[in-house]
Amino acid sequence: MVEIKVDVEKCTGCESCVDTCPVSVYEMKDGKSVPVNVEDCLVCRACEMQCPEGAIQVIE
Ligand code: SF4
Ligand code: SF4
Repeated sequence: MVEIKVDVEKCTGCESCVDTCPVSVYEMKDGKSVPVNVEDCLVCRACEMQCPEGAIQVIE
């Protein structure tokens, strides 16, 4: 069971995580990244590593 947390206070809406995730977990809503397809997450942690704001946490 994977949980993904996006800190909306930190997220600048750069969309980098949307472009990075290989299985399209993220969508933009109102200028913030929202993990909508968490069940598809591969726990590769690419999104976590690339977020320039450190806003993403992938928790197993
Ligand atoms: S990479 Fe980080 S700052 Fe950019 S949209 Fe995703 S969560 Fe927000
Ligand atoms: S850990 Fe990998 S598969 Fe999961 S949301 Fe992040 S980039 Fe996508």
